[in-house]
Amino acid sequence: MPAVSRVAIAGGGVAGTAAAIFLAERGVQVDVFEQKADLHALGSGITIQGNALRVFDRLGIWPQVEAGSYTFNEVSLRAPGPGAQVLATIPDQRTGGPEFPATAGMYRPDLARILVERAREVGADVHFGATVASFAADEDGVDVITSDGLERRYDLLIGADGLHSSIRGMLGIEVAPQRTGMGIWRAFVPRPESVTHTDLYYGGPCFIAGYCPTGQETMYAYLVEPAQDRSELDQASKIAVMRGLAEAYGGPWNEIRDALDDAARVNYTWFTSHVVPDAWNRGRVVLIGEAAHSCPPTIAQGAAQAAEDAQVLAELLLGRDRVDDDLWTAFHARRLPRASAVVEASVQLGRWLLDGERDADVPGLMGRIAHLVSEPA
Ligand SMILES: Cc1cc2nc3c(=O)[nH]c(=O)nc-3n(C[C@H](O)[C@H](O)[C@H](O)COP(=O)(O)OP(=O)(O)OC[C@H]3O[C@@H](n4cnc5c(N)ncnc54)[C@H](O)[C@@H]3O)c2cc1C
Repeated sequence: MPAVSRVAIAGGGVAGTAAAIFLAERGVQVDVFEQKADLHALGSGITIQGNALRVFDRLGIWPQVEAGSYTFNEVSLRAPGPGAQVLATIPDQRTGGPEFPATAGMYRPDLARILVERAREVGADVHFGATVASFAADEDGVDVITSDGLERRYDLLIGADGLHSSIRGMLGIEVAPQRTGMGIWRAFVPRPESVTHTDLYYGGPCFIAGYCPTGQETMYAYLVEPAQDRSELDQASKIAVMRGLAEAYGGPWNEIRDALDDAARVNYTWFTSHVVPDAWNRGRVVLIGEAAHSCPPTIAQGAAQAAEDAQVLAELLLGRDRVDDDLWTAFHARRLPRASAVVEASVQLGRWLLDGERDADVPGLMGRIAHLVSEPA
């Protein structure tokens, strides 16, 4: 018998739905409580690396992800300025193995829909517009009360409720995301025909200008700048600022700039990082995904690490017959060093840009992380 037969999950993002699918398809009763009212939240694009695609395959959603994304195997470096000269085109490591592309670009809400549909298909109960209001854990289980009035006892509560996790707060864990000093403008725009993979432009008024195709018709574009308080800007001003910064870049940016309007859903976010040290669980309550660790998307590993957390946790819960210290020791041994290495490297890459470090061994660091995450979690 698996170590759990009834599990509550707070948060229906990548980590929460992935855990729900792995557990529910093996007969565990799973309730997912997602605070959003429905799936129709607006979003931008996401760059998904091969090691995440490998987990998506195990979740049974790779065919849908492949059909709903734009896949590619290289990245180009281009010069800032009107010419947008291509400086180099580098093959990307296929971190999920040769059967998966190196990278898939995708519209975030499409990925969210695929994950939730799969979770429901395998029997998980996904409750939208609901949060875990309180819980009381003892040696044998967790009593959970939700904002929509449910009171149930579970064998385990998984806090997969993202960056500002309320479960983390309720556990009394004081580690919180710290700003790394960078902010990112993102917009969802039509794909110029010439864009067939990610291009990165280092320099100009931004640390990084880049884009990633997400479908035949669509892509998302981004500009990374020193973090600023942009919270007072209305939507028209946001569009104007992003357009102004984009003036420094040519090539496909000429078309991207013209497409920056209300429909492009321009948004601005700060980069953060954190890792809950030592242990992500307190008894029968455990944090996974961004509730436990976050990193700036400089190597686009956030979704992959969240999915891997879910996979490893589910594997241990299904392969053992009790929730005990041995299980948590095994979980942390497999997840803490790997997620911490990804966070450290992602922060380091940003730090080098912030410090204007010209001799940094960026390819060396990227290569080490690609090698690390190529090994299955
Ligand atoms: C600007 C930016 C760009 C990024 N780009 C990339 C990228 O290109 N590639 C990549 O791999 N990663 C990227 N990431 C990181 C990636 O988005 C995250 O690592 C990933 O989404 C983490 O998944 P998660 O399930 O842990 O958290 P989330 O996806 O944040 O999901 C958490 C869920 O919990 C819900 N929730 C929150 N609070 C509660 C509550 N109290 N009760 C119930 N539900 C709750 C939320 O509504 C949400 O649905 C980026 C991050 C940022 C900030």
